[in-house]
Amino acid sequence: MKQSDDLLRALRAIVGGENVSDAIEDRICYGCDATRAQALPAVVARPKSAEEVSNILRLANERRIPVYPRGAGSGLTGGALALKGGICLEMTRMSRILSIDRTNITATVEAGVVLSDFQAAVERKGLFYPPDPASDEFCTIGGNLAECSGGLRCIKYGVTRDYVLSAEVVLPNGDIIHTGSGTMKSVVGYDIGRLLIGSEGTLCVFTKAKVRLLPLPEAVRTLMAYFSQVGDAVRAATEIVSGGIVPRTLEIMDETTIRCIRNYKPFAILQGTKAILLAEADGNRDSALQEIERMAHVCRVAGAISVDVTGDKAEASLKWEVRKAASAALYSLSSGKINEDVCVPRSMLNELFSGVGEIAQKKKLVIACFGHAGDGNIHVNVLYKVDDEAERVAAEEAVEDIFTLVLNLGGSISGEHGIGTTKAKFLSWEIGEREIALMRGIKRLLDPNNILNPDKIFIDNPVT
Ligand SMILES: Cc1cc2nc3c(=O)[nH]c(=O)nc-3n(C[C@H](O)[C@H](O)[C@H](O)COP(=O)(O)OP(=O)(O)OC[C@H]3O[C@@H](n4cnc5c(N)ncnc54)[C@H](O)[C@@H]3O)c2cc1C
Repeated sequence: MKQSDDLLRALRAIVGGENVSDAIEDRICYGCDATRAQALPAVVARPKSAEEVSNILRLANERRIPVYPRGAGSGLTGGALALKGGICLEMTRMSRILSIDRTNITATVEAGVVLSDFQAAVERKGLFYPPDPASDEFCTIGGNLAECSGGLRCIKYGVTRDYVLSAEVVLPNGDIIHTGSGTMKSVVGYDIGRLLIGSEGTLCVFTKAKVRLLPLPEAVRTLMAYFSQVGDAVRAATEIVSGGIVPRTLEIMDETTIRCIRNYKPFAILQGTKAILLAEADGNRDSALQEIERMAHVCRVAGAISVDVTGDKAEASLKWEVRKAASAALYSLSSGKINEDVCVPRSMLNELFSGVGEIAQKKKLVIACFGHAGDGNIHVNVLYKVDDEAERVAAEEAVEDIFTLVLNLGGSISGEHGIGTTKAKFLSWEIGEREIALMRGIKRLLDPNNILNPDKIFIDNPVT
């Protein structure tokens, strides 16, 4: 499908000819995300400023053309997919770190900045921006705001929303508004920022944010504990959290994940290991050391077969390589995976792991679990062969069983990846009818013509 010359001309007038493309190779590149699904936009436009974003949205709103904001395309629920063609609004040219304020311990950053670049810049100044999705080397700040991304350090430091003081956003009608205040505290009017953060690109386009920072912790200690049974690792994780320790990270990997990681790269993982806990403590030198030793003790008492503790950066990063390989490594076992990111109360972790094990047995599937044990937020990966129709159907049924299990345990079907398009049909499993009606009302108020990221969160997104 080719957009009309008239639209291309109008977009070129806004962002410059070199920043608009309807070439098939560009549409393919911007037509997928980390779900591996594909939906091609009709045209890609790459704005450089809030004013350009505003002009594009104004134009699209007048002509009723769908617009799909896009950062790095690392989303795991199809949020950036251009399901109805239209305009892919590619935000990575807005890539300036505008200021890092050491007096107020804040920073102002544009939406297209890559998260790890931002983290490195603040750390060079002795400061710390804690939100750290495992995609930090490529995901953007705008994507993080849109998804309210979590990450490994959430257990101690919270999620993206907890760090945003104010934001510049563009509404679907093209209005540029500012949310929040640059101060540490402000309770003036409704907190629109907290509504927009996590709205998955359906209510606004983020162009800029002012975020609070923290002093960079003086010391970080890392622990890797190896277990011969996943139940022991889960017990250790639960006891660490309930025992008054606040780790900076507390990650778990089960036997299937470890098997995939071994297939993927020759990591040094102790033979006989069927579960791993990877944890960090930070603070001053003494407190970090004390906390990591307390955690090591809990792991040993829970039955760990070995516990490694290190304060050495290089050694720690080798251990983190094992965890960071998990997502990609799962493909070494099967060509397809459905990656869910369910969250349960932390006291229910054991029930989650054993329930998922039963579902895997019942459906004769391999299901790998790893993730943020400290938050009760586990990535449950249902593996299947893409060319085996029966297995694919069984995998989809397994997802339904997993969601039923999670909701029965008092949990949530998504801890951090959002609903996007892949989970839209399950929204009403967790959210009540009245609440969904209220959410649709908010969408209708801000986007009456349903041009901004339609078909996401709500099935079919009917707004009239
Ligand atoms: C290997 C891997 C590990 C991951 N680990 C984590 C993790 O630990 N925690 C976690 O939370 N997520 C994780 N993710 C998911 C993903 O990286 C995050 O959701 C991330 O914030 C998406 O950023 P992005 O720039 O890639 O956004 P995209 O994928 O491009 O877009 C995601 C959504 O945000 C919207 N959007 C993008 N930019 C803007 C903007 N400027 N304004 C408005 N809407 C916008 C899009 O329309 C879309 O709905 C992981 C993904 C991968 C592939």
